[in-house]
Amino acid sequence: MKIAIQNGTIVNNNEKFKANVLIEGDRIVKITSDEIEADVKIDASGKFIMPGLIDMHVHFRDPGYEYKDDIISGSQAAVAGGVTTCLCMANTNPVNDNASITREMIRKARECGLIDLMPIAAISKGLGGKELVEMGDLIEAGAVAFSDDGLPVSSSSVMRAALEYSKMFGSFCISHSEDCSLCRQGVMHEGKVSAILGLKGMAREKEEIAVSRDMLLAKLTNAHIHIAHVSSEYSLKIIEMGRKEGINITCEVTPHHFSFSDDDILQNAYDANFKMSPPLREISDIKAIREALKSGLVDVIATDHAPHHNDEKIVEFDRAPFGIIGLQTLVPLTLKLVKEGVISLERMVELTSANAAKMLNLKDKGRIAEGMLADIAVIDPDIEYIYDEKINRSKSINSPLFGKNLKGAAVVTIKSGKIVYKFGE
Ligand SMILES: [Zn+2]
Repeated sequence: MKIAIQNGTIVNNNEKFKANVLIEGDRIVKITSDEIEADVKIDASGKFIMPGLIDMHVHFRDPGYEYKDDIISGSQAAVAGGVTTCLCMANTNPVNDNASITREMIRKARECGLIDLMPIAAISKGLGGKELVEMGDLIEAGAVAFSDDGLPVSSSSVMRAALEYSKMFGSFCISHSEDCSLCRQGVMHEGKVSAILGLKGMAREKEEIAVSRDMLLAKLTNAHIHIAHVSSEYSLKIIEMGRKEGINITCEVTPHHFSFSDDDILQNAYDANFKMSPPLREISDIKAIREALKSGLVDVIATDHAPHHNDEKIVEFDRAPFGIIGLQTLVPLTLKLVKEGVISLERMVELTSANAAKMLNLKDKGRIAEGMLADIAVIDPDIEYIYDEKINRSKSINSPLFGKNLKGAAVVTIKSGKIVYKFGE
């Protein structure tokens, strides 16, 4: 079957131009200004044709906590957000620390057929922080990187070994940067707002110390470290320093960390949907994150999609679990950065797909061009809607944006040449 996307603006990481796209089989076969014949025609007037988004940090809770989300509902939320490739974290139950779980996750996603699911395997068995997983077996089974995300690897020597082995297998480690000895059961950012609210705070240094350590271990081992969900200004300074020294360090930020601050907890009456780890920081941190998105220091925007059942979140702030869903709010929050002039559309593509494709060595993803895989998000920057039950595809609704008016969305998502989502259907 031939699909044509017509009259839209193609956006890549380094270019933006009007053209028609012809898809045949699972590939983009032609990009032209001429009229094209096809079985299905999609009118993309006033819309952007972007490479399908790659989200390097999601939790699908499958196996083990399928009541929050499973691979099917997670995949549905992904394509509704324009995301066609997801990297799933290992803190499932059982933990994804062995090849059979990795294989089962991939099998289930293939059967569902909406996205490419790429598992991130655990660094340590059972996320225990002591014994390394069998990295070779896991890579062979389809794991693409390693992380104990949700928990830090507290032993420097275990992290060093993990970096050495992952490098041997041509892979990398993702650091959940947290020095837990500084946690003190904190539930939000430690600062003026936590003092006003009388809630226990988590200092920025808890993250910054861990970022420093993992950067130094990457220097020691010459391996690649990727820092997950950077939330503080000084973490970015440390990463910038490492980059300048030639250390192989990359990083991601989440849409919630560039959109909200700890002040939102105060403004929203302790709504636990503003509770995440790392916590929402101060305006100065948001400014620094936005600056780093602009300058090129940040490599990737990732959602850290972390579903929790409503019953778990509608409790007192300090009793609620950390984390919010994010797959369907990635596009509107990132487009807001474009509208505010923080980043260009081309930079949006770099941050949401091109850089991740490069990091993961996915040669046929992350770009709209002839011969590439037809993973495409048709984005309408002007569409306005309420993000509610009708639109939400996740099993969970733990988002501070739930029930709110949003602007901008993926209106058609194509995965490997198949239409897998249409807005409003
Ligand atoms: Zn994490």
